[in-house]
Amino acid sequence: MRKNIVAGNWKMNTTLPEGLELAKQVNTLLAEECPKCDVVICVPFTHLAMVNEIIDKNKLGLGAENCADHKSGAYTGEISAAMVASTGAGYVILGHSERRQYYGETSEILRDKVRLALDNGLTPIFCIGEVLAERENGSYFDVVKKQVEEGLFNLDAAEFGKVILAYEPVWAIGTGKTATADQAQEIHAFIRKTVEEKYGKEVADNTSILYGGSCKPSNAKELFAKPDVDGGLIGGAALEAESFMGIVNAFE
Ligand code: PEP
Repeated sequence: MRKNIVAGNWKMNTTLPEGLELAKQVNTLLAEECPKCDVVICVPFTHLAMVNEIIDKNKLGLGAENCADHKSGAYTGEISAAMVASTGAGYVILGHSERRQYYGETSEILRDKVRLALDNGLTPIFCIGEVLAERENGSYFDVVKKQVEEGLFNLDAAEFGKVILAYEPVWAIGTGKTATADQAQEIHAFIRKTVEEKYGKEVADNTSILYGGSCKPSNAKELFAKPDVDGGLIGGAALEAESFMGIVNAFE
């Protein structure tokens, strides 16, 4: 059966010393607990190798927040999936709405990134989600379906089975406005049905679908109690070890 997962997305926050301190704190708090979910922190590229050295990988997974859409070569400033994997990281967030919106990441680009991530043994945390206007005009089902189809449905079933999905309504990211647990359940169930129609029930039942968007200790329990919400991708609340752990501990 699918895993419950809580993953932190640090975004462009923390200097290296600050990031190491935060990773150390999360690692220490986790050492004292037996979390009922997998726990991952996705950190800036500059932090990966050193964070990898100081965390207990049996308890805490490590991921990047992006990778390049090319294998290697003359792409100044880019970081390849192979480079990410060589730091010891096991995960990579792909298709975050901030990347889609500010860096023009299209489904075509994301297909290449997913392929390279998988080829390098990384688990993609693939983000999808609608903007406010699409939520309000009711087109959000179509929008999310299209993102899943275009970004991932070129994969075969075994490859798709390695992907974690993260539904993140753009209107809820960093806004303090959370989708209600019922809104999350509705769209998560729809996403699972979309996966089932393509890959069958077994693959769909095994796919972890995380919720992201102003998730915090105070609302995580209600969200995670929904049958199709398998954890969270956490932005702001992942920047403080105690609040992140408060979300991890929402799985009892
Ligand atoms: C995110 O950006 O992945 C996210 C969910 O951010 P926040 O929790 O801050 O809304």
